[in-house]
Order: sequence, then structure tokens, then C-alpha cells
Amino acid sequence: MEILLATQNTHKKDEILAMLPSNLNLKTFNDYNFEGDIEETGLTFEENAFIKAKFGYDLSGIPCFADDSGLVIEALNGEPGIYSARYAGTGSFDDNIAKVLSNMKNITDRKAYFISVICWVNNKEVRYFEGRVYGTISNSILGKHGFGYDPIFVPEGYSNSFAEISADEKNRISHRALALDQFKKFINENNPIQN
Ligand code: IMP
Repeated sequence: MEILLATQNTHKKDEILAMLPSNLNLKTFNDYNFEGDIEETGLTFEENAFIKAKFGYDLSGIPCFADDSGLVIEALNGEPGIYSARYAGTGSFDDNIAKVLSNMKNITDRKAYFISVICWVNNKEVRYFEGRVYGTISNSILGKHGFGYDPIFVPEGYSNSFAEISADEKNRISHRALALDQFKKFINENNPIQN
């Protein structure tokens, strides 16, 4: 079965590819020569995941899935949330991290979670799969691995940030891994009918 992964984020793409079985015939936007921008106009992770998955399905005609994800910080009323990728307005991970650390200055409640919502669209149905990983926001930048907010997120039960642990370790416990686990189960159990 051919499936399209609708993401333009190469970091997310690499993580997802590493977590999916190699016998899936996975296509990406590269296979469809698509390099434009998909406007994420939704007000929830679900809506934005759907916008991307539906776009991919309409573009390719094959079953498609997309992940919309972000960092949710309780003390900041859920920010950066769905605006995680564009929080500082510059598109730079460093600027986004700097904005979070500045907004969290003097805040002792540092609880946060990463969320990943996967949306699956084919000719029959739309399905959603969600994963969350809870943790805390560090006081400073820790480590160099990963992407996005990894250097300031310390998962529960760990003393290291996502940017200090290996990619394999992150892929065992992350929000994306948890959402993908359910997605993989669904694919295996339902063998969804495609076009
Ligand atoms: P999206 O591509 O619109 O879903 O934006 C996701 C944004 O959330 C990314 O650009 C990152 O800033 C952040 N994000 C999502 N997942 C992760 C992760 O695993 N590590 C670090 N940051 C993440």
C-alpha cells in the first residue's frame, strides 16, 4: 500500500521515517515535486493536521497522513501551542526558544507537554491519533541534538533534555512515537482500503 506523509519539516520527516516499518511504501512531498507552503489556518492541532493531510490526499490521490505538533506550557496558558513553529515570528528555532525562556523568567511552575496529533485521510475516512509527553521547561538551553524546543524540554523521569538524549531514546518516548504507535496499530488492524 502506498501512503503519503504530508510534512515539509525535514526533522519530523526523519523521525517519522525512523519509527515506521520499512515495508510501508511511504511517499513524501518530494515524490510529488511539491515545495510550496500549506497555510495552517486551523485553531487546533486537529484542524491543522487535517488541513495538511487533506492537502496531501488531494495532491496525490493516495491515503495520506500528517502530524501537527507543538509545545504546550501550562503557566503560559498553553503557549506556544499551535503557534509553536512561528512563536517568535522569525521561523528560527533559536528565537522561539529565547522567547519561551524569556516568558518563563521568574516562573516556578515549569510544567509542559509536547503533543502530536496525526490525521489520516483516505477515500473512506478521516482518523486522528494523539500522543503526549509530559515534562518541564529547563532554565537554560541543554544539548544540541534534535530540533525545535528539544533543548529546553526535560521529559518526566529524566534529568536530561530531549536534545541531550539519543534520537533512538527520544523516538521511544516522544509524543510523536506515542501517536505513531496508535497509527501503526490502526494500519495493521484495518489495512485501510485505498483508491
Ligand atoms: P508544525 O510543523 O506546524 O506541526 O509545527 C511543529 C512545531 O512544534 C515545530 O516547529 C517545533 O517548534 C515544535 N515541535 C514539535 N515537535 C517537536 C519535537 O519533537 N521537538 C521539539 N520541538 C517540536
